[in-house]
Amino acid sequence: MSRSKTNKSNGPSNIAPNGAGRSKLELERRGVPASPGIVIGTAFVRDADRISIPRTLIDPSRAEDEIGSLKRALDSTSNDLRALKHDIAARMGDDHARIFDAHMMILSDITLVDDTSALIRGERLSAAAAFDRVMNRFIESIGSIADEYLKERTIDLQDVKKRVLRSLVGATTRVQRPDEPSIIVAHDLSPSDTAQLDRSLVVAYATDLGGRTSHTAIIARSQGIPAVLGLENLVERVETGDTLIVDGNAGVVIINPTAGTLEQYRLEMQRLHELEEQLLLLTAYPAQTLDGRQFTLCANLDAAHEVQSVIDHGGQGVGLFRTEYFFISQDYLPGEEEQFKVYRQVVEAMAGKPVVIRTLDIGGDKIASYLNRVPELNPFMGWRGIRFCLTRKDIFKTQLRAIYRASAFGNVKIMFPMISQFEEIVRTKEICAEVRDELTRDRYKFSPAVELGIMVETPSAVAMADQFAREVDFFSIGTNDLIQYTMAVDRGNSKIAHLYQHLHPSIVRLLRLTAAAARRHRIHLSVCGEMAGDLLAVPILVGLGIDEFSVSPNVIPEVKRVIRSVTFDECRALVRRVSNLRTTAEIEAEIETFMKAHTPVSAASGGTRS
Ligand code: PEP
Ligand code: MG
Repeated sequence: MSRSKTNKSNGPSNIAPNGAGRSKLELERRGVPASPGIVIGTAFVRDADRISIPRTLIDPSRAEDEIGSLKRALDSTSNDLRALKHDIAARMGDDHARIFDAHMMILSDITLVDDTSALIRGERLSAAAAFDRVMNRFIESIGSIADEYLKERTIDLQDVKKRVLRSLVGATTRVQRPDEPSIIVAHDLSPSDTAQLDRSLVVAYATDLGGRTSHTAIIARSQGIPAVLGLENLVERVETGDTLIVDGNAGVVIINPTAGTLEQYRLEMQRLHELEEQLLLLTAYPAQTLDGRQFTLCANLDAAHEVQSVIDHGGQGVGLFRTEYFFISQDYLPGEEEQFKVYRQVVEAMAGKPVVIRTLDIGGDKIASYLNRVPELNPFMGWRGIRFCLTRKDIFKTQLRAIYRASAFGNVKIMFPMISQFEEIVRTKEICAEVRDELTRDRYKFSPAVELGIMVETPSAVAMADQFAREVDFFSIGTNDLIQYTMAVDRGNSKIAHLYQHLHPSIVRLLRLTAAAARRHRIHLSVCGEMAGDLLAVPILVGLGIDEFSVSPNVIPEVKRVIRSVTFDECRALVRRVSNLRTTAEIEAEIETFMKAHTPVSAASGGTRS
């Protein structure tokens, strides 16, 4: 079985080939295959955050002009902020608008103009270079004071700095968007950039940075948009308007393809389309092994509107609703009512099927600008997930109230991310009890039987799984983080993507430990990390006896196809065999041999029809 085969084909194309009339050469770049499917389309190069500051020394006669530019930039930034404050006050109230007071105070600080002017005159720096230096000194000195409040103010300073610099060097502060459906080419895309882009304008992603389990990759997969990440210097080689082929299956991007290459890819797209149609026939069949063991196949959801895709692909529930994308895709903190509507929409659409709503997993690379957080040196190991929620109890309780209220409309379970300490579970359960009491007092309807579970995604949660299992109703293994924390491999770093391995012996061992603890305490066990959708890992997860797979909606049919082509007993024997192996390569080779003997004759072969 080849690991890179799958999935979708996308978008017909009337794109012109790179023919004789054009001078550009066809160029192929290899990166990380982050979301399957092939697309032929037009590039839109997004060069969002790069502010290029002129570093050449100025002629002394230009000093006063530069100082004039600085003053105009400070004025225009003040005006922008005043307009923004006004707009936010009208939409969300004065409390939210007040955050801009701090920004405006910084801008009106007279020493800012004096210090910057001194550098322009004395060191012949451009206004932008001088202002950048003054602000950096200021940020550094405030950041080094041991006072949390002051430290947090450095975020405001950074923000002001960027706004003024953009005004000085003429860059836009708005997120750039294409006018027509395009392939988004960028150096990097933060989860909030990706969440903010209009889905109808994006046919594929190709970025210089990022790995298979970076959040941009995950969003692309759940939206069914092909993506190749980790291309290193693609941005330098592509111009807006270039024709590209993005092959998310092989991890290849072809710039300015020739007619021959285009034809070859169109044939491949046709083949994949037929395969996909065949796989969709599986929707009517259960996820059952040849010897009758049933598994539940759920989907991961990043946005409420994706719920139709879960239903279309035969999902038996939502195994992970990542609520943080709703928070980071806008520029203000959503309130209880607004959240309630979103959760209720998903719960009602799933019509009684389980919906596991994960509480806010903000932090790491998922940052909401309005929360004014201080940048962290190690954000993935920082103030993230439950750690954030337990210190921002106001935000946490608002979310819990909204989720509990949605439970009156279907089958809701609540899951908590980034648990690493026993006390976190105890405290979280206390807060849930408080929320239930308050909702009863406020006469809201909710289900009293909402199950509570945790993500097992830190090595400490695995080591403590037998204790944690006594406290909760279910576990869901988050392999994306579990692998990054176990192997010390940043999940978004393409330089070390080769070290990020689902089937590393250490990971298989940790999964065995977790499965044993869940079994011993008879709690439901799901795997919702990307490993659950890695077809080579499926027989191992079957053999470990997990109860549920939760994967991107469009991967459901393929996972089902693998489950239906194996027996539970053989998979258990396979797990025993690989448990003694020492390398990922040995484990993968063992599974590949196993799968060769189990390739189904047709998509729906094996098992029985439901
Ligand atoms: C995980 O860590 O495996 C997971 C599912 O959570 P996320 O990818 O949102 O961190
Ligand atoms: Mg995680």
